[in-house]
Amino acid sequence: MSDLQSRLTQIVGAANVITDDFAPYANDWRKKYFGKPLLVVKPGTPEEVAAVVKLCAETKTPIVPQAGNTGLVGGGVPDESGHEVIVSVARMDKVLEVDTINNTMTVEAGCILQTIQEKAAEHGRLFPLSLAAEGSCRIGGNISTNAGGVQVLRYGNTRELVMGLQVVLPSGELWDGLRGLRKDNTGYDLKHLFIGAEGTLGIITAAVIKLFPAPRATQTAFIALESPQKSLELLSHMKGALGDRLTAFELISDFGLSLVTKHFKNLKAPLPQTSPWFVLTDVSDSRDAAALAEEVEVALGEALEKGIIFDCAIAKNETEGKRMWELRENMTESQVHEGRNIKHDVSIPISKMAEFITAADAQLEKAYPGVRPISFGHVGDGNLHYNIAHPLDRFTEESWMKEWEHINLIVHDCVATFNGSISAEHGIGQLKREEIKRYKSPLELRVMRQIKAAIDPQNIMNPGKVI
Ligand SMILES: Cc1cc2nc3c(=O)[nH]c(=O)nc-3n(C[C@H](O)[C@H](O)[C@H](O)COP(=O)(O)OP(=O)(O)OC[C@H]3O[C@@H](n4cnc5c(N)ncnc54)[C@H](O)[C@@H]3O)c2cc1C
Repeated sequence: MSDLQSRLTQIVGAANVITDDFAPYANDWRKKYFGKPLLVVKPGTPEEVAAVVKLCAETKTPIVPQAGNTGLVGGGVPDESGHEVIVSVARMDKVLEVDTINNTMTVEAGCILQTIQEKAAEHGRLFPLSLAAEGSCRIGGNISTNAGGVQVLRYGNTRELVMGLQVVLPSGELWDGLRGLRKDNTGYDLKHLFIGAEGTLGIITAAVIKLFPAPRATQTAFIALESPQKSLELLSHMKGALGDRLTAFELISDFGLSLVTKHFKNLKAPLPQTSPWFVLTDVSDSRDAAALAEEVEVALGEALEKGIIFDCAIAKNETEGKRMWELRENMTESQVHEGRNIKHDVSIPISKMAEFITAADAQLEKAYPGVRPISFGHVGDGNLHYNIAHPLDRFTEESWMKEWEHINLIVHDCVATFNGSISAEHGIGQLKREEIKRYKSPLELRVMRQIKAAIDPQNIMNPGKVI
């Protein structure tokens, strides 16, 4: 046993230092990155995290913070050097406090997102962060990636949902910023540095998060329409009719939907006829269900009359609504079953979404005739998952992946012409670390490096990620 291993064992106990069977920690969800850690350490308290980091700082051992390991950009997996220690917060999975007057919950960083949602519901509250990985991702990871999900339209990204943080800095010092304050103008708001930092500035050990009154009714509808442009017209129409009760608004292409129904035989398309595009939407309210259903029906009826939509199916009850959402939630996984494609997670001003899709589709088709874009995502937030499957006649999955850099260049340059972002919600991690140099200004990159150097002068906290 090395000296480092024996000292880590003294801090967290032998059962919590993993020395083999690294696969669940070292490989990412998409099976793109296969890292080789030195060890995996699983502290049980913030003090143990602090002691582990202090020891790593003393021995200049690089650390990779990890929560649920569902990240999609390789941020939570180590490199192949065999020198990096994964610090997993998975054992720190408790809800510490629910305050229904302050409307906050204090949670440890390893709390599974779904557990938090369920705890909030037990208290008649809503924690609105919701994404397909919610059964296995953990709040420390959600905060570190500033996760988005399907309710950003109404409640904002994770950044908007975090009120306080407790963080172990790369020196091993424990910063206790666990405040549940809605107003606090006392200088730089440090928590925002750690939100979305992808573990490069410290290890989040706990958080105070924001709760909302649980809606009494949610109405789900699955809508057929002609084009992304029509989806923007529908978004505007629905916002006008229903205001901020419009909670989710997701665009799905026909090709994307067909992959879900192909690979999940138990799931059926809610509408009988095909359509080039669909929208899945949720409207939620504190009023009773019947009143809400009527308003949604009227709004969609008007959209039909105005020629914005072809058809729609309104869920008759919660179970039917959930079945509709299963189609959306299984889009990412259905693509894994179909085979590898080249993925993008881009952000465009909402008003330019349709123009972007037309322009990017045309540029790709010119370069690779027969290319098959799978477009879907949070169009209400201007966030599109724009995944590109290979033309069937001239490429195999393997030969297509060799085009990765060229396809990225076409798509991301197109994003840049719309003043968009090449990572809307998944982050930079390892995947886009080199690419951001092309799209962020030298000044932005310099300030980011200065912040990193100030907080982590030894560069031991998730080195090689983000910058
Ligand atoms: C099927 C599927 C659907 C998804 N849908 C969405 C979606 O709609 N929206 C979205 O935003 N994302 C989505 N994701 C991506 C992923 O679930 C999110 O990025 C999630 O927030 C990651 O949480 P995690 O606990 O798995 O973090 P991990 O993967 O463990 O880590 C992610 C990053 O955070 C760092 N980190 C982890 N814990 C800590 C900590 N305690 N302190 C400091 N740094 C830490 C890691 O080093 C890494 O850089 C999806 C993923 C899958 C597999």
